[in-house]
Amino acid sequence: DQAVEVHDLRKIYKGTGRAPAKEALKGISLSIPRGSLYGLLGPNGAGKSTFINILAGLVNKTSGTARIWGIDIDRDARSARAAIGVVPQELNLDPFFTPREILDLQAGLYGVPKRERQTDRLLEAVGLQDKADAYARTLSGGMRRRLMVAKAMVHAPPVLVLDEPTAGVDVELRQSLWAHVRELNRAGTTVVLTTHYLEEAEQLCDTIAIVNHGQVVACDSKQQLLKRL
Ligand code: ADP
Ligand code: ADP
Repeated sequence: DQAVEVHDLRKIYKGTGRAPAKEALKGISLSIPRGSLYGLLGPNGAGKSTFINILAGLVNKTSGTARIWGIDIDRDARSARAAIGVVPQELNLDPFFTPREILDLQAGLYGVPKRERQTDRLLEAVGLQDKADAYARTLSGGMRRRLMVAKAMVHAPPVLVLDEPTAGVDVELRQSLWAHVRELNRAGTTVVLTTHYLEEAEQLCDTIAIVNHGQVVACDSKQQLLKRL
């Protein structure tokens, strides 16, 4: 089985009022192997967020099939959602909670029993062990992003999805964030990320799908793909 397998995925956003309908995904088929660090590379508006929002159960697809860790999202949406952790683009952390509290709340939300929570291990994995009890508002932008990654991992999903993880992040923080993502991948998590930076896909991913206008225009190992560019 693959980590993620989608077949002929389509999404049409219905028009509202004067806004016309928009075909955001025009039949995407992809297999993301277990254990990979997989990049969806494409310009703004290509359909990357739509794709991962469908996997995350946040957007309804128009047609096609999707399986996460072997679970069909139509047949068992709940289990499929449990198999995936999503780090959205926006930093939506409550400024007056601490990382420890934020992870505990999220664990509660996902019904992770207290004895199974790995708060300290997770904070360590993203380099925030020293900030466990600091208010989120005192954390730097990079720390907040890392906290978002830890938050998406509280239910120990086998697949972690990051939407533009380093958009608007400076070079130094980007390197540190990449290191943490690599570490999570080495520890066994399948990572899928979207990016519009070629450099990010090149530095971080082992396999890259290039997405444009709602279609996969190329998909290969990084080495093969770079040869063709
Ligand atoms: P990005 O490409 O960085 O994800 P977008 O500007 O494409 O950002 O979209 C940000 C969010 O705004 C999307 O998640 C989507 O839900 C919403 N959005 C984008 N375009 C439209 C649109 N034409 N009509 C309504 N909502 C939109
Ligand atoms: P990306 O993440 O690659 O920037 P998106 O998936 O956010 O692309 O958007 C793909 C296309 O769908 C864009 O043209 C965007 O404007 C449109 N879109 C995204 N979300 C919505 C929405 N909620 N309603 C209408 N159009 C949307």
